[in-house]
Amino acid sequence: MSVASVKLLIDGRFVESRSSEWRDVVNPATQATLARVPFATHEEVMGAVASAKKAFGPWRSTSIGTRARIFLKYQQLIRGHQKEIAALLTAEQGKTLADAEGDVFRGLEVVEHAANIGTLQMGEFANNVATGVDTFTLQQPLGVCAGITPFNFPAMIPLWMFPMAIACGNTFVLKPSEQDPMSTMRLVELALEAGIPPGVLNVVHGGAAAVDALCDHPDIKAVSFVGSTRVGTHVHRRASLAGKRVQCMMGAKNHAVVLSDAHREQTLNNLVGAAFGAAGQRCMAVSVAVLVGEAGAWIPDLVERAKKLTVGDGAAQGTDVGPLISAAARARVEQLIARGQEEGAKLELDGRRPALSEAVAHGHFVGPTIFSGVKPGSALYDEEIFGPVLCLMSAASLDEAISLINANPNGNGTALFTRSGAAARRFKEEVDVGQVGINVPIPVPVPLFSFTGSRGSKLGDLGPYGKQVVLFYTQTKTVTERWFDDATTTGGVNTTISLR
Ligand code: NAD
Repeated sequence: MSVASVKLLIDGRFVESRSSEWRDVVNPATQATLARVPFATHEEVMGAVASAKKAFGPWRSTSIGTRARIFLKYQQLIRGHQKEIAALLTAEQGKTLADAEGDVFRGLEVVEHAANIGTLQMGEFANNVATGVDTFTLQQPLGVCAGITPFNFPAMIPLWMFPMAIACGNTFVLKPSEQDPMSTMRLVELALEAGIPPGVLNVVHGGAAAVDALCDHPDIKAVSFVGSTRVGTHVHRRASLAGKRVQCMMGAKNHAVVLSDAHREQTLNNLVGAAFGAAGQRCMAVSVAVLVGEAGAWIPDLVERAKKLTVGDGAAQGTDVGPLISAAARARVEQLIARGQEEGAKLELDGRRPALSEAVAHGHFVGPTIFSGVKPGSALYDEEIFGPVLCLMSAASLDEAISLINANPNGNGTALFTRSGAAARRFKEEVDVGQVGINVPIPVPVPLFSFTGSRGSKLGDLGPYGKQVVLFYTQTKTVTERWFDDATTTGGVNTTISLR
């Protein structure tokens, strides 16, 4: 039976790729083939950029009100289709339906923010910077921008990118993950329905070749990337060398520190949810818990809670932990678990080969897995596992825990569980991580702020969404102006720098 093909979007039309290279989009729970996605040809990628370039002139001069109203309509359309998109997302990505709705919702919040572009893209003005002289700034769009997104949030992360770029007056070429492009494409269809004009948003599919072509293209002015550290580092180098602005949000190893004065019930529930939700395939998942002092005695309780989670099809009611994205991802996670055992960490809970219903018996499942006694220098600690594996470590003090976190190369997210304000203040001040939670396990900021990874988790100065992204997607121009009339002319040539 033939399956539907995922289309490219070029110049406002959804077109069939002429590529000879395709891959199947497969439901990771049931193994049903949902669609096939092309690896766009070089000409198709060039066509998408050319269409975005052509659309830039008219779009940059479109009024703020018109741009804002498109995003007002877009947020309404997404809200109306939230369940439909979530179902598609669960089918192609695996996460539970409730979590998929959350994926759509966190992207929707960025669209709502984009509808405020009128107040976000305002410049500054200073009167009389010299006698009769005023200076003001313009935040002007850059031109064609590109976005490259990962598989784990196929709704939220594309929505981190193109709505704000386009609201700022840019045009866009999006390259979604080739593993699960269908929910992204549904969101793109709704963006056109909301009124985004032809050529302002374009989509190409593919892998390394398409990404490299976007990094190299002289007509692309800025690249936003979210994905692994390996690929993000490559994208940052390549696109920077080609003279572009680049922001790369990358891999993670997020530590939660637990002090023994923390609220035990809340802390353990939060840890289990943040470690095993979305099968650990979140860049902000808690993958390491550092138990300080007497909190080390909470391990059996933690293990009992993790054991109670239901592993299965994300589309089935009652499922807590869905599948990993692919057979390769499952094999990698299972190998890391085996390696952890060889390296001497204690396997407190083994999630390999969980009990499954007949319908998903061939899915890519690993259940909640917990190791204790994990040490820096082991593969379990040094690699981003990106699966439902929680590493437990112990520390004698909060200071020791902070030193451990700051010595890890990643700096995406972290959390402290405590009832001590003094400990929380010390942690916030001293930990070198972009996003810090105090009794909040996954502290991803809402779009009034920007996503803020640090050290190895991020390259580029400005983060996605929020205030920072307006600076990322615009060029600041200062205008200093004076107007002469007979009363203000001073006469004579002046060869010195003005002293007033
Ligand atoms: P990935 O790096 O494999 O893929 C990301 C994108 O890069 C995809 O569109 C893919 O097609 C493309 N790509 C893959 N190989 C490439 C290559 N060799 N050259 C050029 N492009 C290439 O990441 P993934 O597996 O899809 O996503 C998981 C990763 O993303 C994890 O490391 C996770 O921590 C990270 N992530 C980070 C954040 C964040 O905000 N920091 C958010 C979500 C995910």
